[in-house]
Amino acid sequence: MEVPFNRLQLAGPELDNIREAIELQQLSGDGSFTERCQTWLAGQIGAKAVLLTHSCTAALEMAAILIGIEAGDEVIMPSFTFVSTANAVVLRGGIPVFVDIRPDTLNLDDTLVEAAITSRTKAIFPIHYAGVPAEMTPLCEIAERRGLMVVEDAAQALGSSYQGRPAGSFGQLSAFSFHETKNIISGEGGALAINDPALLERAEIIREKGTNRKKFFRGAVDKYTWVDIGSSFLPGELIASFLYGQLQHADSITRDRRSNWTAYDDALRRFQNRGLKTPQIPAHCVHNGHLYYIVLPTPELRTELIQRMAADGIATPFHYVPLHDSPAGKRYARAHGDLPNTVDLSARLVRLPLYPRMDGAVDRVVETLSGHLDQML
Ligand SMILES: *Cc1c(COP(=O)(O)O)cnc(C)c1O
Repeated sequence: MEVPFNRLQLAGPELDNIREAIELQQLSGDGSFTERCQTWLAGQIGAKAVLLTHSCTAALEMAAILIGIEAGDEVIMPSFTFVSTANAVVLRGGIPVFVDIRPDTLNLDDTLVEAAITSRTKAIFPIHYAGVPAEMTPLCEIAERRGLMVVEDAAQALGSSYQGRPAGSFGQLSAFSFHETKNIISGEGGALAINDPALLERAEIIREKGTNRKKFFRGAVDKYTWVDIGSSFLPGELIASFLYGQLQHADSITRDRRSNWTAYDDALRRFQNRGLKTPQIPAHCVHNGHLYYIVLPTPELRTELIQRMAADGIATPFHYVPLHDSPAGKRYARAHGDLPNTVDLSARLVRLPLYPRMDGAVDRVVETLSGHLDQML
């Protein structure tokens, strides 16, 4: 593809940071770069603490352990999400319960959540699709009233905010991703933000293979031993040093992505009255320019557009085969109702190339796409 969907862009300090980590003789996890990333992220998110993980998937798995998901426990989440949101629950023996999405943001429909709660419901896992926050005020109000935990899948939402508060600061826990396809990257990478201080000590143990290693190094206990279940959820310092280089330039990365996002939006909104749906950002939400999508009037037009764009060298992938319709989703989860918005919108959506410093590529995508939409709509 001449214009790929995503392109790696170094922010600047990454390679020097990696060299510094090697010179410090720190390759395993929890060295000085991990510490710097965690401090930066906790400040940005406004979290009590942040622990780096090797992926958002790992952070979600830690969250499922920390909130005590057990066999038969139910967790409400959208079907329109990445598999890791659901897998984290299933790995504990829990049951994802899929609730439909709102047509404006494609996020969990807060007005349908209450009806999906049963005596087995333990938590709500909203995601912030495309970096646009879910309706956290009503979701947290329901959770509080019904005694449920909230874990935000904030994989796409670093730098986004809802009613002036950072995405990831609402749930007891929230999970971020630094996968190569996200805004701030380290190839593979993630973080667990901890907003409920009561969960911090156990989180440190679970992340360190179920040992009290962290307390031992702080001098708080005199031996280092196996105290709980756990796994190796932490990244090495080479990853953390690369990530810190990105975080040092997070503001300009976000600004660049948002300006590309806005260029798409300014050019494509004119097709709304011909049946094209473009993203709607609620007035109380600030997004981070993670993803620009369009929704074609029919699935057939989507297929045609993807083919036309590919023939012109431009990648426009679709997104999320709904989980309730997947083989594992049918085996391990259940849907609350028919999920009409999920089924309909996921069949008509395509994503446009978006990465920092796209230079002329934005204009090229806009011109090519507008030409096809003029013929098709
Ligand atoms: C990318 C993504 C994940 C997984 O992130 P990894 O860091 O690759 O594990 C989970 N949930 C959502 C919503 C995502 O977009």
